[in-house]
Amino acid sequence: MAVKLVIKGVHLVPMGMANAYLIEGDDGLTLIDAGYPNKEAAVLGAIRRLGRSQDQLKHLIFTHGHPDHIGSAAAIVRETGARTYMHSLDIPVAESGGPFRPMTAAPGMLWRVLCKLIYHPDRRLEPVAINQSLTSGEILPIAGGIEVIHTPGHCAGQVALLLRPGRMLFVGDVCMNIMGLGDPLGFESLEEGRASQRKLAGLSFDAAGFGHGAPITHDASKRFRNKWGKHPQDVFQQRSAA
Ligand SMILES: [Zn+2]
Ligand SMILES: [Zn+2]
Repeated sequence: MAVKLVIKGVHLVPMGMANAYLIEGDDGLTLIDAGYPNKEAAVLGAIRRLGRSQDQLKHLIFTHGHPDHIGSAAAIVRETGARTYMHSLDIPVAESGGPFRPMTAAPGMLWRVLCKLIYHPDRRLEPVAINQSLTSGEILPIAGGIEVIHTPGHCAGQVALLLRPGRMLFVGDVCMNIMGLGDPLGFESLEEGRASQRKLAGLSFDAAGFGHGAPITHDASKRFRNKWGKHPQDVFQQRSAA
């Protein structure tokens, strides 16, 4: 499948049923997530189509350590020598190649069926070494600045990555955009997952990229606010209850 331009300098790379994103910067290329196993050719092909060479992929940043986001990582690192980044809570699972932590399906019959069908925590992958652990609030000096926002719930080490200043938010699996904005397949903690969705709804960003589903190219934070943000009636109800 072809690479798709999302916003200037950011390209979506389809990796099976998951998405990766390639960011062009003055300091080389950055890849967000590494899809399912055996999908490395999609990334290497995308790099070629941009007229770049493999060794120009400098950074590989993971939104979290699930099989559909780290699957082709070891192969991509072997081909490119990219430096790898992940939140410390998910590093052990990436470096061991599994098994993965169990998840409970998100609320709803469809999610219960899909989660069982798609998510297999006992799966084993080729391990990938992580060079740098990510901390919430830090701004990576990459592609003009990428802010790390810890957003646990779906996965303990889940982070959202904000390409500054508010240009595009990469949400990983905090939510999906399949049949509209909605829950990921499952949660390690539903309560934390909801808090993370609300946290993202409080940010300002133009475009949004998801681990699964189509990106939103503009006014994305408005859509998040409508779905998970505080509405005037919530504030009114809180005041009345107080
Ligand atoms: Zn996931
Ligand atoms: Zn995923």
